[in-house]
Amino acid sequence: MAGKRAASVFEDLSNVEFETSEDVEVIDNFKQMHLKEELLRGIFAYGFEKPSAIQQRAIKPIMKGRDVIAQAQSGTGKTATFSISILQSLDLTVRETQVLCLSPTRELAVQIQKVVLALGDFMNVQCHACIGGTNLGEDIRKLDYGQHVVSGTPGRVYDMIRRRALRTRSVKMLVLDEADEMLNKGFKEQIYDVYRFLPPSTQVVLISATLPHEILEITSKFMTDPIRILVKRDELTLEGIKQFFVAVEREEWKFDTLCDLYDTLTITQAVIFCNTKRKVDWLTEKMRENNFTVSAMHGDMPQKERDNIMKEFRSGQSRVLITTDVWARGIDVQQVSLVINYDLPNNRELYIHRIGRSGRFGRKGVAINFVKSDDIRILRDIEQYYSTQIDEMPMNVADLI
Ligand code: ADP
Repeated sequence: MAGKRAASVFEDLSNVEFETSEDVEVIDNFKQMHLKEELLRGIFAYGFEKPSAIQQRAIKPIMKGRDVIAQAQSGTGKTATFSISILQSLDLTVRETQVLCLSPTRELAVQIQKVVLALGDFMNVQCHACIGGTNLGEDIRKLDYGQHVVSGTPGRVYDMIRRRALRTRSVKMLVLDEADEMLNKGFKEQIYDVYRFLPPSTQVVLISATLPHEILEITSKFMTDPIRILVKRDELTLEGIKQFFVAVEREEWKFDTLCDLYDTLTITQAVIFCNTKRKVDWLTEKMRENNFTVSAMHGDMPQKERDNIMKEFRSGQSRVLITTDVWARGIDVQQVSLVINYDLPNNRELYIHRIGRSGRFGRKGVAINFVKSDDIRILRDIEQYYSTQIDEMPMNVADLI
């Protein structure tokens, strides 16, 4: 009996339907958002003319101080959503950390810092990227100087808080970008460690393209009456990103398929995902042995090297990047129009994030999945889960880029 009751409680919980809050206002013009004049200038100078759907809905409630859970498809302007809200909320006469933004990778934390600084170009804002793999003393010096915004990865941020280099008494907003990843097993404890040091009234903002049910369920533990802006599962893939598969009988054939596709890869820029660092190294070496020019990046490389690879890829100097899921989330390089899953990702959320490296802000994109026969089942599962379409790759795939 007791067992049965426990089971039904569990069912009740997972049956809770999470929906977009009813009172979400839509503001389709930056001028009508009542932003600081210097911020508005920064937004227009950065080249934005009209707010995207998520910007039209989420900026205002974050500005108002509400806890917010904001979901939107990849590449639709989530970073700018919270960056604009962060900038609006700052009191620039107080040079203390007022907003803490946490992300899963160092590259993403740096990218967010750059967006905050660019949009805040006319505001004299201090924003520091507090990430692992960099000089500790330099971090401490920068924080000592005073930073309005800190964009970081959890480990280094926690370290800085414990050393009292990062003082949290003036923090009024915590942003978790890629929130589902940040609240997943690997990061959850670290986030909690940081959260404990923040003032109890801190506003919490969660952002991601994917927010699985089990993550939404735990948000009540640290959020107060949040405004939710959510996307239904069947609306999560973007029309602009065409998805295909190539069936291979044996793992070895993937390599030949990739070589055949090389000219297509270099039409603009391409990202190739493998599931392990070792495989990235192996594939990179093998491509180079065959005289193909490729770059590679993964989490075991020294930060300096990671920085160089990012710089080369962002500038377009390198066109083909072989990498792991360190690159799956958040990274924005507008020229990427092709994503290859050399290996299928280990979960459905990663699939959405990986293919979302292409097709940024309405651009066209193509995703190609290499599948061995037992993988086809997994791909069909993804296809069904997101109510999307993944066809066999056509001969003229290059024309779609
Ligand atoms: P997301 O975080 O949702 O994946 P980003 O915030 O990285 O997306 O935005 C994707 C790209 O779109 C970026 O290059 C960004 O500069 C651009 N972008 C965002 N908002 C706008 C806008 N309102 N107008 C034009 N471009 C935008």
